[in-house]
Amino acid sequence: MGRVSVGEVNKDTADMSFEERVLCFRDQVDELIESLEGGSNVVLDLCDSDRVMLKPNVCVGEGYETGAITDPALVRAIAGFIEDRGGSPFIAEGPVVGNTGEEVFRQSGYDEISDIELVDLYECDFVDKEVPDSVKKEIDQLEVLDQGCRFDSIEIAKEALKSDYIINIPSLKTHVLTKVTLSLKNMKGIISEREKKKFHKKGLVQGIVILNQLISPDLSIIDGLIGQEGLGPINGSSINSGLLIAGSGSTITDIVGSRYMGIEPNSSDVIEVSRNLIADSNIIEIGEAEYRDFKEPGEAKDYENVEICSENACSGCTSAVYSILARLDSEGELEEILSRYDDLVVYVGSAVEEKDEEGFEVAVGRCCAHLKQNVDLYLPGCPPIEMLSEDAIRTKALDKEPKNTTENEVKSFLKDK
Ligand code: SF4
Repeated sequence: MGRVSVGEVNKDTADMSFEERVLCFRDQVDELIESLEGGSNVVLDLCDSDRVMLKPNVCVGEGYETGAITDPALVRAIAGFIEDRGGSPFIAEGPVVGNTGEEVFRQSGYDEISDIELVDLYECDFVDKEVPDSVKKEIDQLEVLDQGCRFDSIEIAKEALKSDYIINIPSLKTHVLTKVTLSLKNMKGIISEREKKKFHKKGLVQGIVILNQLISPDLSIIDGLIGQEGLGPINGSSINSGLLIAGSGSTITDIVGSRYMGIEPNSSDVIEVSRNLIADSNIIEIGEAEYRDFKEPGEAKDYENVEICSENACSGCTSAVYSILARLDSEGELEEILSRYDDLVVYVGSAVEEKDEEGFEVAVGRCCAHLKQNVDLYLPGCPPIEMLSEDAIRTKALDKEPKNTTENEVKSFLKDK
């Protein structure tokens, strides 16, 4: 039986300074963690100078107001809890492929935390951690997964493996590939870039689930202060939900987190598969708040006569594609493209193959470079820059002027292989 604690926080923090927001969150953080009582090792066993890794979601360089990342003020408040108990916190992240930790920390306001070490995990060593036979066997037997175990080992940052405790601090978001992205998915930030690409080739869901079997955080605190709905994890809409959810196990915390988003936990394969691997998924819920109603990623997906051919694509490109389509649609330009070409075909992911389709064909991202000679437009990058990609489609398919950038920028983007 695991304990998960839910609290509501003041939603009106927009005009507060960073320090004021830290103070505002601190009492709530203490209350939530302490309410887990013996359910959290971090409360019970923390010794002086224990290294405690705080793992927020800083997948991209965006402000916390977008809901795409964990609020740095919340992370500082949690660090304060650790420091008061003699522990030594540090903050670590390995962001979306193609970004560096240093960049995203700066762009996301983490440089306001000047007194705690920020660790770019891509700059650290990685250890190839073997998947034990017992885990492989369990994965092989899972009916809910319907595929055998495809991983012998996973490359994990040494910094994470050698820390005394891990506190996982994901943000409360929807995800175009995994429905929601919470504690379980947030651990993907501790693996190498090479391993992230392998996850998308071998099976994202089982990769995430196995990773969490190899290394389990001691505590999860989901940042639902500002979450993201719809086209998450990067291009969704922010939703000011004022929630904090803390639990001692990632799976049970995610079950509660998903429920509070108004999304059935078992509709996320990551949660469902993981639930099948834990011995006891009964939950004691402490505290309460109103359930929110997050818009699911699927609600924004369907466009008539737009075919998205996707195989082994990761969220960087997938999320970019949906976001570009949504923007072209809102400008009425998707309709113009369809009236001119009848169909729009978008290829994304390393294993996608060209189909014999009519219409305007776009291949997205470095993984689709093998298709670039055969399509009408190839968008380079990993993932491609969205504003430039949108303008490239606009200029190539509709012979229009770019709206977000300049003609020269679009030209040089398309030359960038
Ligand atoms: S090109 Fe796109 S799908 Fe391929 S690794 Fe980069 S972000 Fe992922």
